[in-house]
Amino acid sequence: MKRKNSVLQTCSLLLLVNTILQCEDLSAWVVRCPRCGSYNVIKKQNLRRKRKGQGRKYLCKDCGKFFNWDNNLKWTHCPTNIVGEILLLVATGNTFRKTARIISSSSSKQKISEKTVANIVAKSVDLMRRFERIVPLKLKKSKEWQIDEIFQARKKGDHLKVINVIDTGTRYILATHASEERDYHAAKEALKKALNNSIAPPKTLKCDGHIPYVKAARELMKGVRIDSKSKKEKFSHINIIEGMQNRMRGVITRRKRYKTVETLQDIADLFRFDHNFFWDKNGEPPIVHAGIKVSNLTWERLIKVVDLIVNDGI
Ligand SMILES: [Zn+2]
Repeated sequence: MKRKNSVLQTCSLLLLVNTILQCEDLSAWVVRCPRCGSYNVIKKQNLRRKRKGQGRKYLCKDCGKFFNWDNNLKWTHCPTNIVGEILLLVATGNTFRKTARIISSSSSKQKISEKTVANIVAKSVDLMRRFERIVPLKLKKSKEWQIDEIFQARKKGDHLKVINVIDTGTRYILATHASEERDYHAAKEALKKALNNSIAPPKTLKCDGHIPYVKAARELMKGVRIDSKSKKEKFSHINIIEGMQNRMRGVITRRKRYKTVETLQDIADLFRFDHNFFWDKNGEPPIVHAGIKVSNLTWERLIKVVDLIVNDGI
């Protein structure tokens, strides 16, 4: 237990997350005796198992217990590398069905159903949302935000909406909010999420003339300049968020129907996390502006570290 305490005394949680994300061998942080909780353990041998993949056998030097340890997540039978592949495939626009087919026909010989893919996505996104609340991942400073929405067909003539908020300078997506409406109430929920994910409100908020956005912003963001212009007044007024939403449509609307707002929220959030952690068209991903300073990150590593922080309470 010694190491854990000394680490927590000297590092903030964010610093700890950055350190673990860069650590080559995660086992150094997490292998401890299941019987007495000691980190005073030594590796005895490597294990190769058919279903669970690679693992290691350890001996606890304090109480003498032998135990096995592996890199896998406890909430799924899928090895972590397959979970990483699934998240990447879904976040880049593949349906659950197509993702299941790609994984099942790849060289890993892992047979996976559409339902398993859906489960893994729902659990992973939930884990990511808990992670961003615990750490927390807040955008450092911002000049201008843009708010807008995309429509998603549900039944004939009926649409669900995803209201988004992005920081213009960093392209950090501050909020994705799925809802039945894009009314005052929904706008408020979206802006609340955005304010939660940033240290301070921006100087300016831009929107396209949709009145509920203006009303909600006046209510929640006192002192912020609200710059609302319709397409007719200025065509490129909110072009940054429109560019992001075009990519988002490619991921979200690829699936024809969403039965519930919750499923839509999950896919929208998966897109948001994928964008914030991996979209590096500007040289580095937006998440660096919320304190995560790691390059060459993969979904496999991210979900493993997030799982350690949230579920193992490192
Ligand atoms: Zn022990």
